[in-house]
Amino acid sequence: RDVRDRLVAELLGIAPPGVPELASPSVLVARDLAPADTAGLDPAKVLALVTEEGGPTSHTAILARALGIPAVVAVRGLLSWDAQALAVDGDAGTVEIADPSAPVVTATKAQLADWNGTGATSDGHRVKVYGNVGSPADAQAAADAGAEGVGLFRTEFCYLDASDEPSVAEQRAAYTAVLSPFRGKPVIVRTLDAGADKPLAFLSPEAEPNPALGVRGLRVAFDRPEVLDRQLEAIAGAAEDSGAEVSVMAPMVATVEEAAWFAERVRAAGIARAGVMIEIPAAALSAREILEAVDFVSVGTNDLAQYTFAADRQLGAVAKLNDPWQPGLLRLLKLIGDAAKATGKPAGVCGEAAADPRLALVLTGLGLTSLSMNAPAIRTVGASLATATLAECEALAEAASATSDPAAARAAARP
Ligand code: PEP
Ligand code: MG
Repeated sequence: RDVRDRLVAELLGIAPPGVPELASPSVLVARDLAPADTAGLDPAKVLALVTEEGGPTSHTAILARALGIPAVVAVRGLLSWDAQALAVDGDAGTVEIADPSAPVVTATKAQLADWNGTGATSDGHRVKVYGNVGSPADAQAAADAGAEGVGLFRTEFCYLDASDEPSVAEQRAAYTAVLSPFRGKPVIVRTLDAGADKPLAFLSPEAEPNPALGVRGLRVAFDRPEVLDRQLEAIAGAAEDSGAEVSVMAPMVATVEEAAWFAERVRAAGIARAGVMIEIPAAALSAREILEAVDFVSVGTNDLAQYTFAADRQLGAVAKLNDPWQPGLLRLLKLIGDAAKATGKPAGVCGEAAADPRLALVLTGLGLTSLSMNAPAIRTVGASLATATLAECEALAEAASATSDPAAARAAARP
């Protein structure tokens, strides 16, 4: 489609589609952007990103966050604004029309500097603070920010532009480049999560009426297990080359049977630790049985919220439902925390919820054992954990979960 649009633009003598070349640092305004477009943005040129569509956990927002670009999504009516200058606050999620003659100001909130690098509550209950990565640059940024390891390596981000399946040798080299900053440290590599908002040309199925409910994530591997096996071979090789302590997990797992099927293939590939993501409500409800079949779980709160609230994470109109402070979501997370306690196995969070410093305390109180996030949030979350005891976190979790809306949950968890 992109090639077609470019040809048509050429024939009509108009500017090609996609993100235009920015002559000077600017605020980029769009209806929405594809993850591949966002990944290519230059943070030196794009001061901020504002979209009319998209949700706070869409992959466009996640990539903007990883690049450190302030972004506000789901701004209804944005494209009809008559504005020459905008003031954007990415933390508060606000966009205002500004005076074009005012000087351009950019500011980044100072990061909390007083984190000692070990994720723990003030009374020493360990909650490891990990980085989410998708490229060698992300991995270096996570390591520089003090990540104790990697809680989510989105391998599909290496191949958003690939038209053919990369060879085992190519994958091994690409993964090694990402894992290398974490020699001797724990790293969780996620197998390809293709489909829905992250289509991969070589894996995505025929057109489906509802791609988010279709053959995506691990489901792709049921028909084509050889693609999964080749990826596992490459990951095992990258573990050897990088010296990182590698675990592997699968995205979009619905049942205990699927979890056991995946773990068997991971172990057959010579990788010691196999886990799965919990992103489907049915998996959250079976967290205990799933944990008995694998070594660990990691909660993808972005998709878990999307499927729990039946609200597309890319759609601005339903963005409020995807708020990770929704009490309904917190209650589901408690089931997973309880399963971790009962089985003595780790249950982390690697969705965007983990990057909220206050929610980090609630997640700890719910029994989750590690938090994984993009580099810019690492120090702030690490420092936040050290401000409360485990018992205080448990009290916050109980108070937030007992409310009936996200605003009340936030208020209940305020210091
Ligand atoms: C999630 O769904 O929360 C998650 C971490 O995976 P992704 O955002 O890549 O779908
Ligand atoms: Mg997901």
